[in-house]
Amino acid sequence: MLSYQHAYHAGSRADIHKHDILARALEVLSKEKTQLTYIETHAGRGVYNLSSDKTEKTGEAAEGWLKLAHDKNLIAKLCPSYVETVRALNSGKLLPRYPGSPMIAAHILRKHDKMKLMELHPNENTALRRNFTGDKRVEIQKRDGLQAALQMIPNGKGLALIDPSYEVKTDYDAVADFVIEFHAKWPHGVILLWAPMLPALRHEGMFKNIQTLIAGAQVSEVTWAKPGDVRGMYGSIIMGINAGPGFKTSFARYISDL
Ligand code: SAM
Repeated sequence: MLSYQHAYHAGSRADIHKHDILARALEVLSKEKTQLTYIETHAGRGVYNLSSDKTEKTGEAAEGWLKLAHDKNLIAKLCPSYVETVRALNSGKLLPRYPGSPMIAAHILRKHDKMKLMELHPNENTALRRNFTGDKRVEIQKRDGLQAALQMIPNGKGLALIDPSYEVKTDYDAVADFVIEFHAKWPHGVILLWAPMLPALRHEGMFKNIQTLIAGAQVSEVTWAKPGDVRGMYGSIIMGINAGPGFKTSFARYISDL
């Protein structure tokens, strides 16, 4: 369908939840000298402007990063390399540019690591390429992210972020099947899977299907409303496979208070 554009949601509470956990997991992985491969199935454009009309239209950043950026105490509780990525984009400040997940990964990964980014939307793909011009670690493909990832299983260590736009109901089953197959092919790889918590509760079946087959998958969730009280998202949920301690120390517990 490709009607989703992340610019409307950049800097939201869900982004903060996801990006903090991503940065923590990558920080742990990159303590080892070995080469890492970072795979992102749904990469987006890499950088967003939080003073744009799109951001204002949904007001999601106003409930998220635009609030957080003015709270020094809370900023200090975020993963340091996540905050450093934002500062690097804004000449030391925290606004108005906001990094997408590939930009956070690029900031944490080292010279000898590799990044494989999939983005199917033509405009988003073009912007992503522009934002990563000259970064020799990065390979960008304009194709279905799930199909592509199954064909690029790394030999060594690394992390895959699965962050689909869930535009059709069948995406939930397809993503569960993908995670199970991908994990079987890359048993030591770290997998992070994000999903929206919506009143239809489709994330529950998807996560249950995966957890039935993959022991030890951890889940971090943040809610800011009750399912029956809103029409849209009432929370954000992330599953981590081989994800290490980042889940326990994450910023998640502070998000509902924003
Ligand atoms: N991970 C990004 C971040 O946190 O900055 C946001 C990604 S956004 C939620 C999902 C992206 O997936 C959109 O940019 C959309 O164009 C893209 N997309 C949709 N269907 C896709 C597919 N089948 N394969 C690859 N990308 C796809």
